[in-house]
Amino acid sequence: MKIKTRFAPSPTGNLHFGNIRTALFSWLFAKKNDGKFFLRIEDTDVLRNVEGSVKNIIKVMKWLGLNWDEKIYFQSKRLYLYKKIIFFMLKNGFAYKCYCSKTVLEEKRNHQILNNEKPKYDGTCRNIQNSNFIFNNSFVVRFRNPLKGYVKFFDEIRGIIKFKNSELDDFIIQRRNGMPTYNFCVVADDLDMKITHVIRGEDHISNTPKQVNIFTALSANVPKYAHLPILLDENKKKFSKKNNNNDFFKYFEEGFLPEAMLNYLVRLGWSHGNKEIFSIDEMKNLFSFKNVSKSSSIFDKKKLLYLNKYYINNFTNEKIISLLKYYFEKENIDILNGPNVKKVFKVFKNRCFSLREIVICSSYLYKKCVNFKNLFLVKCNKKKFLIILKVVYFNFKNIKIWISSEIWKTIQLISYKNNFSLKKIIYILRKIFTGKSSSPSISKILYLIGYAKVIFSLKKFIFFIIKKFF
Ligand code: GLU
Ligand code: ZN
Repeated sequence: MKIKTRFAPSPTGNLHFGNIRTALFSWLFAKKNDGKFFLRIEDTDVLRNVEGSVKNIIKVMKWLGLNWDEKIYFQSKRLYLYKKIIFFMLKNGFAYKCYCSKTVLEEKRNHQILNNEKPKYDGTCRNIQNSNFIFNNSFVVRFRNPLKGYVKFFDEIRGIIKFKNSELDDFIIQRRNGMPTYNFCVVADDLDMKITHVIRGEDHISNTPKQVNIFTALSANVPKYAHLPILLDENKKKFSKKNNNNDFFKYFEEGFLPEAMLNYLVRLGWSHGNKEIFSIDEMKNLFSFKNVSKSSSIFDKKKLLYLNKYYINNFTNEKIISLLKYYFEKENIDILNGPNVKKVFKVFKNRCFSLREIVICSSYLYKKCVNFKNLFLVKCNKKKFLIILKVVYFNFKNIKIWISSEIWKTIQLISYKNNFSLKKIIYILRKIFTGKSSSPSISKILYLIGYAKVIFSLKKFIFFIIKKFF
């Protein structure tokens, strides 16, 4: 039997880590077993749909390479299927029309709550034999849930899960407005799409017995289930689609690599010995539900950053450089206006945790002129400052081959011959050329800025100091 899984998000907001982890595990399980993976948008609850969500889902899945088979399934376009099955269920007594008014149902419910009972439909319409005498056209359709016995299903992570039928009620499968409900549509689709494994968050466990009972009523094979443990955010709260901060796609904008994201996600609740780094092929080969934990995991941004840095440093330069271009453009940096990106990348790659960080940290290399204001950041006696700058200027001017080793040698020589502290020279050069207190080695930075710009700026700085202070 071909394995078939699906990711079935409701378009009620932007995808978050919990959603994507579900998608990933579902995708991996299908890939590992040479099966199929479907994307299904559960959009029948029109009032809860949020504009832009479907676009977000597609964007994220494409970015991560979680490619789906066939077209995207939209539940809103499959109403004919649901109608057909509900008609069949009504005809065969697996479902019935309930004419109870909203007010009556509400009253009964409040009464049950008041008596500390679990609110449940009381079955008033379950046995109406002849509904012809009912003139009320407003009805919902309810599933005729078995009254006795147990409903059991197999969960790949938790083993057999059992519920008493007496704990369930005749839940609604079609609303008053004719729209089918969530629990019903899921079954209709999983059945129609021949899904073999339903992989989703553990918050769905309580829905599963209802769904299993519908499968059974329809004499269909019940799929296997895998309910994944909950994922908590850094504040140990459940991830929510309503919180815009959780938007998964913002990690693309922040300069994270899809491989790092997937590697991070796969380890949230799944392990393979002590292994931490997984290529996508390794994940596909090694993934199994056996090693999925039952307890919740907590999001840890530090670990994600560490993995991103790992991938930035372990992919080919060419690959990263082609990706970097987007982030330079986004910051309005013209890379033709400065050092070669490959050289810049080599100098910055092991200091930065994301592609965007590389761009932000190296942005000063692409400014037309060295920032004049940097001069005012230097804390140093003006006389000494001027002397050092002059010596540096003349010595740098004479460098024949502008490479960082020569620049470094020259700086050391300046310090030695003139009895200037090496630290001080470096401090001054770093401040005036980068404006920052930390940077890659100053000789590499000066090399990247280039001979002409360094010499020109030093000269300008010297004139300015003389004019201003002397
Ligand atoms: N639409 C459901 C959700 O977004 C998923 C249902 C399922 O996977 O069965 O939580
Ligand atoms: Zn009723």
